[in-house]
Amino acid sequence: MNFAERMSRLGTESAFEVLAKAQRLEAQGRNIIHLEIGQPDFQTPMNICQAAFQAMKDGYTGYAPAAGLPQLRQAIAQYVTHTRGVEVHPDEVVVTPGAKPIIFFTILALVDTGDEVIYPNPGFPVYESVINFVGGKAIPLALREEVGFRFRIEDLEQAISPRTRLLILNSPQNPTGGVLQLEDLEAIANLAERHNFYILSDEIYSRILYEQTHHSIMSLPGMKERTILLDGYSKTYAMTGWRLGYGVAPQLLAQKLEQLTINSNSCTCSFTQIAGIEALTGTQEFVEQMVDEFRQRRDFIVDGLNAIAGIECVKPTGAFYVFPNVKQLPLSCDALAEYLLAEAGVAVLSGSAFGRFGEGYLRLSYANSLANIREALDRIQTAIAQLK
Ligand code: PMP
Repeated sequence: MNFAERMSRLGTESAFEVLAKAQRLEAQGRNIIHLEIGQPDFQTPMNICQAAFQAMKDGYTGYAPAAGLPQLRQAIAQYVTHTRGVEVHPDEVVVTPGAKPIIFFTILALVDTGDEVIYPNPGFPVYESVINFVGGKAIPLALREEVGFRFRIEDLEQAISPRTRLLILNSPQNPTGGVLQLEDLEAIANLAERHNFYILSDEIYSRILYEQTHHSIMSLPGMKERTILLDGYSKTYAMTGWRLGYGVAPQLLAQKLEQLTINSNSCTCSFTQIAGIEALTGTQEFVEQMVDEFRQRRDFIVDGLNAIAGIECVKPTGAFYVFPNVKQLPLSCDALAEYLLAEAGVAVLSGSAFGRFGEGYLRLSYANSLANIREALDRIQTAIAQLK
């Protein structure tokens, strides 16, 4: 079968492929510990589920307005105003089925053939995939282990050209758990104004932070006009399967995102949106408990990995991933990830799945129980000892 030429430029997210492979092994009777998937291992809080049931009973079962129910857009505008310290209007909010479409729609709306988009590498693979898909030029910005997986401002300056249209930021970051500091954001804002580019700020992990509060580039003077903020419910409220996320963008761009919604998925599920109001305005106890639990697991997995000869792991300060350096081991990171799945029954991702600067690392998600993480670390240690 022949496909459109553009399909050859579309990438993928290998977490889904590794998950499928691990599940095939499970179907054959193997015991697999899943450290490959990026979703909280918690149930969605019951107050949010109850709000969805009630919304169904109340008849929120039809199409919603393409950009979202007005009452949800209002709640999101208030939440973002409060958390980012900058006035946001409901017209600037676009609700989508999960936050992922905001990446796709923003790039579709802003990037012409040959326009350059700078993106973090290692980074969420969808960025590079969609930039290439629309005919843009993907310019990787190296994240550096030695500075807690941030990038050097000099590297960003070098990556900028007259064709730079968009810079993608992601903090806290997938796959490294790295977090941008306020001084980084100030320097970036300066460059964005000087060189006149937009910023897609992926803040999906903004509530999963261990040692500090969240900083958004949108909060800085003059930056709201050039920022598309991406946030959502998947990670914060353990709602990956509900598909609920949003973008906040200057109103003219928000209208384009809305138009792309009309042309693709029509709208986001109505009763899910009502539940989204409860999530933002109801008790936040769940989020605090989940982050406390993640913090314990992070400390445990970082210590455990650093105790294994040949592995070095930086302690990340956000998200629920660790990105250990495995360059001293005798296998490439691709081969090592495959070996750990086949020999140890531990599913992890190769750092190379996140771009060429991820080469030599693995990504492990600690969204799994402490007991499973302990067992996984034992298995990894044993399997690696056999490599020598
Ligand atoms: N951005 C990043 C960096 C992510 O890791 C994810 C989820 N893996 C998303 C966006 C999209 O999340 P969702 O579509 O589930 O809201």
